[in-house]
Amino acid sequence: MITSKPEAADSAHLAARVLNLVSGGVIVLDADQRIVLWNSWLTPRCGRAAGRVMGHSLFEVFPTLRGSRIETAVLAALADDTATAIPQSEHRSPFPLRAAGSFDGPLIEQAVSVSSFREDGEPFCLVEIRDISGANERERRLLDHAESLRARSYVDGLTGIANRRYFDVALDRELRRAQRLGGTLSLLLTDIDSFKAYNDHFGHQAGDTCLSAVAQALATRLKRPADVAARYGGEEFAAILPDTDALQARQLAENIRAYVASLNLPHAPGAVRPYVTLSIGVASMDEGRLGEAKALIEAADKALYAAKRGGRDRVVVDGEA
Ligand code: GH3
Ligand code: MG
Ligand code: MG
Repeated sequence: MITSKPEAADSAHLAARVLNLVSGGVIVLDADQRIVLWNSWLTPRCGRAAGRVMGHSLFEVFPTLRGSRIETAVLAALADDTATAIPQSEHRSPFPLRAAGSFDGPLIEQAVSVSSFREDGEPFCLVEIRDISGANERERRLLDHAESLRARSYVDGLTGIANRRYFDVALDRELRRAQRLGGTLSLLLTDIDSFKAYNDHFGHQAGDTCLSAVAQALATRLKRPADVAARYGGEEFAAILPDTDALQARQLAENIRAYVASLNLPHAPGAVRPYVTLSIGVASMDEGRLGEAKALIEAADKALYAAKRGGRDRVVVDGEA
């Protein structure tokens, strides 16, 4: 058996074949920016085969590249061997290339690098183009997914209003804002009266439906865009009311209490009323004592407890118990 080294001609043939198998665009320009090499990847993506572009200036073939970052990079590569990776933020699709065989689809998003080399002392410029549409699309989908997860992690699954996690973030944020701007803020903590009895009588599923109805009632009573209705815990809800003083907060709490009562949701025997009612504790921030979230929540909770002790179905404002 005879084995031999590949001939020089074979190896050039091999190089040309491989170049045409590369999954990206490869263009070589001479010192006058004329195309001297054009691989097959480009042909179905711009509708021009090597035979039609060889010897022509890159900027005649793609006039839209004139004045672009690509032109600057090509000139720099040929003048002083500068290599440039074109930042994607500049222009996602500098070359008018489309998916193979498509004439009017969207342009391929590209990563382009421009470098130089010398052959017999003559400068040449190598332009490499990679299709990154798929990678960008995947990245966009991941970002969308992350966004929807973040949104979901702030929403209570049962009632659809904000959850405790969002409440904590929002209360901190609004308290800091109120302090910075010298404004005020009130907090309502509400608890459904005798809800254990409700569950025992109607069942847990009906209890869940009742919780959702109360959550919606609370949310629809808050009219200002900065107000936040949140599920604070099991059958407890909270309302954060920026720019609302104790007097206004009491009125709103009373309005919420009366509205839920007016829904006339039948309650279990033995509850204080034959319909579902709320007890509500109100606390308002003040400079010294209630500037911290923890202290404000404790004050609202104490007022809520006083409302329970006072007979339920009522509003108590912190400091008035
Ligand atoms: P009070 O008037 O003093 O508030 O009496 P209560 O029975 O409402 O108070 P308690 O805190 O003892 O009971 C709260 C009940 O809320 C107990 C629990 O089963 C119910 N609960 C908490 N979370 C949920 C929930 O997600 N779904 C349902 N159906 N019930 C819940
Ligand atoms: Mg409770
Ligand atoms: Mg309760």
